[in-house]
Amino acid sequence: MVSVEEALKIVEKQVKILGIEVLPISQCLNRVLAMDVFSKIDIPSFPQSAMDGYAVCSLGDIAEGDQFELIGEIQAGQTETIDLIPGKAVRIFTGAAVPPEATTVIMQEIVTKEGSKITIDKDVKEGVNIRERGEQIMSGDTGLQSGTKLTPSGIGFLAMMGYSEIKVVKKPSIHLVVTGNELVPPGQDLAYGEIYESNSVTLASALENYGFPVTKIHFVKDTYEETLDCLKTALSEADVLLTSGGISVGDYDFVGRALRELEVDEHFYKVKQKPGKPLFFATKNETVIFALPGNPASALTSLYYYILPALNQMSGNGFEGLSQLGLPLLSEYSKKGDRAQFLKGFITPEGVEILDGQSSAMMHTYAIANALIYLPAAQSLVNAKDEVLVLKL
Ligand code: AMP
Ligand code: MG
Repeated sequence: MVSVEEALKIVEKQVKILGIEVLPISQCLNRVLAMDVFSKIDIPSFPQSAMDGYAVCSLGDIAEGDQFELIGEIQAGQTETIDLIPGKAVRIFTGAAVPPEATTVIMQEIVTKEGSKITIDKDVKEGVNIRERGEQIMSGDTGLQSGTKLTPSGIGFLAMMGYSEIKVVKKPSIHLVVTGNELVPPGQDLAYGEIYESNSVTLASALENYGFPVTKIHFVKDTYEETLDCLKTALSEADVLLTSGGISVGDYDFVGRALRELEVDEHFYKVKQKPGKPLFFATKNETVIFALPGNPASALTSLYYYILPALNQMSGNGFEGLSQLGLPLLSEYSKKGDRAQFLKGFITPEGVEILDGQSSAMMHTYAIANALIYLPAAQSLVNAKDEVLVLKL
């Protein structure tokens, strides 16, 4: 049995970043760039009007009462320009290419137009309202660096620089194998002794919430043959193989035996933690394998604490789990036993409280929790107002 800290270190050491793929930028949200991105163009690539108004050619600043002769109009997207000389102006719109000789764009709100003559109603500094060529980035300069996580604005910037597709780190394909004879899909009738299957939807939702949709879910009965067969197939297809249930010490728990038969490299089995002691972690070639205990709260907590950072690591985000902070515990808590504990909690403006109903079989507490409180194995009593480590859900 390993400690929580040792287990997490082992996972971090074993899990490697995946390879690279080229994707259309529209599919790159939250992906990690696998190349430095150089702009293909100057942005803007022409002097550009920042206002609807008039582009004028003047000799220096413009004073209230100055007049210009209007000789044409340039819309956004218009590719032909109009030559200007001092004293002349063109009607212009936001985003349009400003004529090369224009010195200033004057917003229409401070211009009076009579026929082809415009009069400026306020003093204006030379050069305003013109976005200079290349003021955002020059062609060939680095716009975004390799390793950057692509946000919506990052993807927009890629488009602005002229990229329709880009090299990013792959995302893991995730297979989930759910075991248990007692499990019935919700919506059907239950016979005595059966329960509704909830782990698949819980785990898949948690994964999706952090940007890792599940590729395939398999359901198997508690027989050795079926378990072995299913795990063999899933292993050959998945970057990450997750299993639910059947990893404990019962006579019908076949996941461990089957994985060993498939010659996975076992890194740990059982962690000194509550909930989720019978957690199993292995690798086989490049595939990462977590066998989760079937109790709903155990499976979900292990996913949050070990699997989430592993998936982030594989995707190029580094070994990042839930965000952590220290908060005062609102009332005293006495931890029994020598295992580290993850407690369902609720963050309030004053601190964090431990919720009632911590059993690993219970989800009613988890369903309203917004935090997990981590108490290390060595800690037994926590006094009210003592700071505890909190993982935000
Ligand atoms: P196991 O780890 O297979 O011994 O299961 C431990 C407990 O979790 C048992 O009470 C199971 O009925 C329950 N359990 C296992 N798998 C699921 C599941 N997919 N959905 C809901 N409960 C489950
Ligand atoms: Mg079972």
